[in-house]
Amino acid sequence: MTTPMPELLAAGFVPDDARALLLQNYLIHDYCLAADRTALLGKVADRISCMVGTSHAEMPAALINALPNLRQVSIYGAGHEKIDVAALHARNIVLTNTPFVMCDDVADLGMTLVLATVRRVVAADRFVRAGLCAGPGMPFSHSVRGKTLGIAGLGRIGLGIALRALMFGMKIAYHNRSERSDVDYPYYDSLLELAKASDVLLLAAPGGAATRHMVNAEIIAALGPQGTLINIGRGSLVDEAAMVSALLDGSLGAAGLDVFNDLAHPPEALFKLDNVVLSQHRGSATYESRGAMRDLFVANVNGFFAGTGPVTPVTLATP
Ligand code: NAP
Repeated sequence: MTTPMPELLAAGFVPDDARALLLQNYLIHDYCLAADRTALLGKVADRISCMVGTSHAEMPAALINALPNLRQVSIYGAGHEKIDVAALHARNIVLTNTPFVMCDDVADLGMTLVLATVRRVVAADRFVRAGLCAGPGMPFSHSVRGKTLGIAGLGRIGLGIALRALMFGMKIAYHNRSERSDVDYPYYDSLLELAKASDVLLLAAPGGAATRHMVNAEIIAALGPQGTLINIGRGSLVDEAAMVSALLDGSLGAAGLDVFNDLAHPPEALFKLDNVVLSQHRGSATYESRGAMRDLFVANVNGFFAGTGPVTPVTLATP
């Protein structure tokens, strides 16, 4: 008699290459694609000990608690704000993600957005393509050298961006919930005070309820008409309506955005603005980072079923 393959519940999309690796050892039930999700759970819930998805997958308490034998949730990606971590914590369910391996690429894009936005690189590209080179040149931009880069969320990615910005002669300051003991950049316990002190405010904090709209109209006003906002973290960090209105009326100088509230529908009002650089959640979108994320994601699932344990568990804060 052959041993049945272990079964996984995919709460959301699983990238094709990761899926192909998982299918070598596991049966995957696509909860996200099921026409009748309740019927699927009725058939397989008792056999599911591991649930998978990307950081975009919704895993509410109702889904977690519908799986009585769930022991591990494995995420392809860094953020986990769409997972009810209190429900995981209550049942000691392990959460794994794929941190570290994409940080350099995300930090590269964060620094690229700083430079491209402040130096108006995309506007210059449009200017050249529009055949305007023979006329009067574009207005000057500002230099980044000597300017202060305020980082909200000085974690793995924020630290990488700080190192890059130092190489461009920028000064670093930051805001976290708590001061780091391993850096001597000026720390602000108030995001508002950091915004007042920054020429460029860069967001690299996680999404979720605790950080929703941490950049509101007051923070945007503090950054002001000469200020630049860069968001490499999550769209939910920013009150998007307030940001769009400030960019349109000039009360915010410029913005470089890799993320939006609704990633599939960035605000169209931004499309015509030359002081805005837009990107499509491209931080980790390199072959190298995504390959490493795939391998780490699969290693976390394999570690669970082999009994060797998770490679990169997330430490869940006590609710
Ligand atoms: P990390 O190492 O956990 O760093 C997050 C930082 O945010 C920490 O320094 C943390 O410091 C700070 N923070 C958390 N909650 C905060 C709050 N309420 N107010 C102020 N600061 C807060 O995470 P990471 O690996 O650098 O990733 C950061 C985020 O980047 C991810 O969560 C994800 O949303 C985003 N990301 C984006 C892309 C992309 O493609 N654009 C790719 C990967 C990740 P304290 O704990 O002291 O507050």
